[in-house]
Amino acid sequence: MTELELRDLRKTFSARGRPAVDAVRGIDLALRSGELLGLLGPSGCGKSTTLRMIAGLETVTGGDILVDGSSVIARPAQQRNIGVAFENYALYPPLTVAENLAFGLRARRRADRGDVDRKVKEIAERVDLTAILDARPAGLSSGQKQRVSLARALIREPDVLLLDEPLSHLDAAQRDTTRRELKRIQRDLGHTTILVTHDQEEALSLADRIAVMRDGVIQQLGTPYEIYDSPANVFVADFVGEPAINLLPGIAEADGHARLSPTVRIALPMPVPAGREVVVGIRPEDLSLTGEDGGLAARVVAHEPLLESGIATLALDGVERPLVVLTDPEVRLAHDDRVHVTADPHLTHVFDAETGDSLR
Ligand code: ADP
Ligand code: MG
Repeated sequence: MTELELRDLRKTFSARGRPAVDAVRGIDLALRSGELLGLLGPSGCGKSTTLRMIAGLETVTGGDILVDGSSVIARPAQQRNIGVAFENYALYPPLTVAENLAFGLRARRRADRGDVDRKVKEIAERVDLTAILDARPAGLSSGQKQRVSLARALIREPDVLLLDEPLSHLDAAQRDTTRRELKRIQRDLGHTTILVTHDQEEALSLADRIAVMRDGVIQQLGTPYEIYDSPANVFVADFVGEPAINLLPGIAEADGHARLSPTVRIALPMPVPAGREVVVGIRPEDLSLTGEDGGLAARVVAHEPLLESGIATLALDGVERPLVVLTDPEVRLAHDDRVHVTADPHLTHVFDAETGDSLR
């Protein structure tokens, strides 16, 4: 049972002759024992740097890292008992898969031979490596290498598990099975885990809570539902959800609507002072096509019929941005068709146009 806490954690990279990079700009996070936290954000936002500091592979510019309430900042990586699986696998090429797995154990404590062999077998079984235990890294697919890297982190029975894009090199089918397996292993073994990913689906399906990060700052921390249902700002709303949320600039009016154009108004979920510039956010799945008598008139720009649902791109009169709507699978639409679309105000999001923050 291990709790992990980051307090105002910071990292600035400074090299002579180059401008300093504030990669991590004051992160506060507290992981409960056994929790799987997804650290989600675009490339370059500071995810790997955060993990590397926790693992002790990168010095800290400011702040603190606490494991079960004690600062580990002064401890070298080997003394932190943190298992790490990074995107670039860092396997030892001359060693077989079994030897790669055993290596970490042997290096750390004088484990007895039989014990090490048993652990290697056990973990290989769990991560589906039994058939390739005698292979060397050069002969493995990238997916296999990634699983070896994961197994090597797990075999140490770490207090904290840090996974940096652990499934990024797997193909779609493997990713699904490995994702389920990873979740099961993490649950079974109860590791307090941070999983770094830029893939929202991975974060949504695996994590107990998600921290959405941008430019070295956590934008929102919450359960997958909280992040999806109540995004804290335009960035989070836009980053989570596929197809992406519609974000439409407008001006609030006194009667609880936002005006998007001279002829188009949308009902807001709560009163907003008249005249305030807002961004109205509506997810494509929260819009529906209706009959003539209700909703907003729109023109079909394009419709992509897919198996489970279609994606319609609509134009609202005088509104610059297209409106993307998820349609029922049986719906057929042609370019320039006239349709009506309705939004449930309770599922409509409102953000301040200037700060991007949610007004809820
Ligand atoms: P992510 O993992 O989210 O893609 P990183 O943590 O790798 O992001 O990088 C965050 C920022 O820090 C980026 O701007 C990156 O270029 C910069 N950075 C990372 N490592 C170094 C380094 N060793 N020296 C200088 N800048 C770095
Ligand atoms: Mg990274």
